[in-house]
Amino acid sequence: MSGEACGVIGAYAPGQNASHLCYYGLFALQHRGQESAGIATSDGHTVTVQKDLGLVAQVFSDASLHALEGHIGIGHTRYSTTGSNRWENSQPVNRQVGQISIALGHNGNLTNTAALANRYPVDSSQGSSDSAVMLAAIAAAVDEGRSDDRGVELALASTLPSFEGAFSLVVMDQGRLFGIRDPHGFRPLCLGRLPETVGGKSGWVIASETAALDILGASFVRDVAPGEMVIIDASGLRSRFPFPLTDPKLCVFEFVYFARPDSQLNGRNVHGARTEMGRILAREHPVAGDVVVPVPESGIPAAQGFAAVSGIPYADGLVKNRYVGRTFIEPNPRLRDRGVKLKLNPITDTLVGKRVVLIDDSIVRGSTTRQLVTLVREAGAREVHLRISSPPYRWPCYYGMDTSDQSTLIAARLDQAGICRHVGADSLGYLSLAGLLTATGADPRGFCHACLSAEYPTDIAGAQGKFWLEEPLLALEHAAD
Ligand code: AMP
Repeated sequence: MSGEACGVIGAYAPGQNASHLCYYGLFALQHRGQESAGIATSDGHTVTVQKDLGLVAQVFSDASLHALEGHIGIGHTRYSTTGSNRWENSQPVNRQVGQISIALGHNGNLTNTAALANRYPVDSSQGSSDSAVMLAAIAAAVDEGRSDDRGVELALASTLPSFEGAFSLVVMDQGRLFGIRDPHGFRPLCLGRLPETVGGKSGWVIASETAALDILGASFVRDVAPGEMVIIDASGLRSRFPFPLTDPKLCVFEFVYFARPDSQLNGRNVHGARTEMGRILAREHPVAGDVVVPVPESGIPAAQGFAAVSGIPYADGLVKNRYVGRTFIEPNPRLRDRGVKLKLNPITDTLVGKRVVLIDDSIVRGSTTRQLVTLVREAGAREVHLRISSPPYRWPCYYGMDTSDQSTLIAARLDQAGICRHVGADSLGYLSLAGLLTATGADPRGFCHACLSAEYPTDIAGAQGKFWLEEPLLALEHAAD
């Protein structure tokens, strides 16, 4: 996957340096994307952008943050869904239209990029991501209505309904911050209030996850509603609803894997939901075992829930090197495989001679899981019973997880017995979809679970593979190999 679960942050903070707020916020959102990071700020007159490939801590220095002046800012961490890992594809993307500067950060993936790119072509210096195409469309609308000083707001209101698919956006011009969530609300976005400064000024934060508000000391106000555009400027906060009303469909995989355990989604703590997934999994797929071992860190809450219900003791059997990123986020398969060995090491004493119930949140490609089962066996486990706290991941996601190529999904190729053999486990049990939805504690109709059920909430006929915008470029690169 080069899945899109990017992270976005926006800050409107009179009297404060927005770049620092965005920087700390991005740290809390680093798990959502590790390919590139960027921040754009405005002092009311000029928009400045700093971005590069790499982690937040690698991209910014004290000097570069100070050079990003102003009280309005947006930030982004990227995990690519459309477009490869090139500097031009890092975000925020920005454009100048006459006197107006616009910058945009996107979490999600559009399903009608091809149609939009035909109307609003982007050249390769502007990147090959769907986000660059969105900005081109918005810029064209700003250009048409340039005389109006609400240019960007009106351009957004008129352009947004032409975007299909998943988009949680932070957008800014010189004087305003916008937070936008597509009408289904596939990706999360929340709103927070900054604490008052000594001068009595307060401000606003918009972020992918509530964990980013916590790190800034901001209080959670509410989620940005599906289909809502919030506008924040010197006169305060307003809302517009530019889209026709439709059903909310938050990505259920945010609960399974993407979001941080300390975040709240739909008012529910993610860790609590994951623990509940483990509890239900233990009831659905009981097994005789000596020890419940999580795959850290993704499997920990579900393993705690499984142990509590099964009565089998919980123990750490794998240690994670915390300085190695999420294996999946390495978009190159060769690096990804090496990543597993760098990342996890067994604790032999926990595993030797034991019937191990190994818990993880998901199997997507199967390559990590297979290596983990081998690792646990080689450490001396007598049996390895794999329990997964989500259903088989069978269908491509076009809404921001990097699984648009179905041939990479192991559950699309093999049935459960085949997967069990492939990963080398003694038994395998997946949480049911009903169990997963129950564990979220929210209305089950409010989720997108297309990757597990093939029930796509939008038309996906126009959805493209990840690299299509740059296919001529890739063809050239391959020719040069
Ligand atoms: P694999 O066996 O190769 O499919 O890898 C399974 C592991 O990938 C599990 O530990 C999951 O937590 C993790 N995972 C699931 N979805 C994603 C994703 N979109 N990006 C990165 N890792 C993921």
